[in-house]
Amino acid sequence: MPRYEYRCRTCGDSFELSRPMAESAAPATCPEGHDDTVKLLSTVAVGGASAAPAPAPAPRAGGGGGCCGGGCCG
Ligand SMILES: [Zn+2]
Repeated sequence: MPRYEYRCRTCGDSFELSRPMAESAAPATCPEGHDDTVKLLSTVAVGGASAAPAPAPAPRAGGGGGCCGGGCCG
């Protein structure tokens, strides 16, 4: 399962979560319990040996909450 890195804008902490790709854009809660988080564009370690291509752009589906709907601005 790929790992994704997130940053909490409430406490400034960064953390990683292992979650399915389908949930990569889903809201993440930081270890302190804050939900104002953004996903960072980090390299995804899937355990393969091949170089990972550039991350695919997240779909900008309407979300609600967050400054740009997807929590990926910045
Ligand atoms: Zn936090």
